[in-house]
Amino acid sequence: MVTATVPEQELKIGSTQLLINNEWVNSSSGSRFETINPATGETICDVAEGDAPDVDQAVEAAKAAFYSGEWRNMSARSRGKLLYKLADLIEENQEELARLESLDNGKPLTESQNLDLPFVIACYRYYAGWADKIQGKTIPVDGSYFCYTRREPVGVVGQIIPWNFPLLMQSWKLAPALAAGNTVVLKTAEQTPLSALRVGELILEAGFPAGVVNILSGYGPTAGAAIANHMEIDKVAFTGSTEVGRLVMEAAAKSNLKRVTLELGGKSPNIVFADADMDAAVEGAHLGLFFNQGECCNAGSRVFVEEKCYDEFVAKSVEKARQRTVGNPFDPTTKQGAQVDQAQFDKVMSYIEAGQSEGARMLCGGNRVGDRGFFIEPTVFADVDNNMKIAQEEIFGPVMSIIKFRDIDEAIQLANTTMYGLAAGVWTKDVTKVHAISNNVRAGTVWVNCYHAFDTAAPFGGFKQSGIGRELGEPCLENYTETKTVTIRL
Ligand code: ADP
Repeated sequence: MVTATVPEQELKIGSTQLLINNEWVNSSSGSRFETINPATGETICDVAEGDAPDVDQAVEAAKAAFYSGEWRNMSARSRGKLLYKLADLIEENQEELARLESLDNGKPLTESQNLDLPFVIACYRYYAGWADKIQGKTIPVDGSYFCYTRREPVGVVGQIIPWNFPLLMQSWKLAPALAAGNTVVLKTAEQTPLSALRVGELILEAGFPAGVVNILSGYGPTAGAAIANHMEIDKVAFTGSTEVGRLVMEAAAKSNLKRVTLELGGKSPNIVFADADMDAAVEGAHLGLFFNQGECCNAGSRVFVEEKCYDEFVAKSVEKARQRTVGNPFDPTTKQGAQVDQAQFDKVMSYIEAGQSEGARMLCGGNRVGDRGFFIEPTVFADVDNNMKIAQEEIFGPVMSIIKFRDIDEAIQLANTTMYGLAAGVWTKDVTKVHAISNNVRAGTVWVNCYHAFDTAAPFGGFKQSGIGRELGEPCLENYTETKTVTIRL
């Protein structure tokens, strides 16, 4: 039961306006929208609602900041120093940011504190370190020429982020873009505007030049679409659903052929062989799916289990799911908080119904928890067929589907029977199986005897309809730079 109230009164909510050209401003229309506490369904506060005219103003500011050269021609080391400063400020304010994140998103505070915030800080520091290491090459060309390449910023970058990891997705977008010398117009998800706005205050405190970072709250089909369609935005980086990713790419193609990177949905296979450490596999599959209320694009939402250990695995997984504590995100014993909003709650419940009507065996869960907020019981389906809706469509909630397989060939074939290709997991002690799975499953990341093992330095992104381009690590910087070739006659 969800009984405790969230201590909102202890929390300082920062600016609720738009950050354009280093100033907090109201939207041109004066409109505002409410952001809801997912644990109670009540309004936390309202924020300025950005739309196309505000995107225009933000782009003007970002363009001026880019072409003035103050940012892109600043010594790369000084750009890095500003990013380090921002990381330090986030670190100083991490407790407050973690609370804001849990209040607006519904995730357990212990996870915001121990996972999200440390990863956010690491991300800004990692790319701060890259700022003065983005280098071109000298090229041995024919004839009497000196030929070299420069890695230049792409220009004005539009960034559209989701609500499942608001601060983390902001850091994955801002840090590499800024390290490479771009200027940014970033739109947060309408469900979770608050923590990014607080980071906006810290960006001002750190001393970034005006127009380098502009942050808008607003809706997708209005402010988001205005970014994707904008003629003066040179690149758009999007994280969200495959459906909207397609719209963003279409808008980019129809406007100015802006560069596009997309980090989209997933239906990631987590494959358990009978020789695995079974308790570790059960735990890994549990966290692989239920972490963050199941609201992870890379959730291991199709758990494939070898028939020899199927019954044991199912029994242990159900037991674990039953023990998972669901409730008030601010209670330190809570493992699973609230789904982000009513729409997501309804969507997850509709998939639970679909699983039952398609004939999968629901062994636990399936119900709402409490009488307010958007809490759902951890739900486990066994005897799932890979063709069922719950095995093919992204649920983005606490619903595990367990599917039986006979041998490694069938595991690979089933794992690849999906339009997605974001991540995969494999649990085995057999090195041959490790390589067979890692090399043949079509996914951007493969975790072996672990899951969700992210690091800022390790690239992440999708094969197939899970996306285009990579975030994190060095490859991400390629998406935020253009290569310029300079040839000098000697
Ligand atoms: P979800 O369905 O999980 O909410 P979305 O893909 O709809 O994910 O949302 C991810 C981000 O994309 C959010 O910031 C949202 O506002 C934005 N968005 C939604 N629709 C559009 C659109 N048509 N154009 C651009 N951005 C959009």
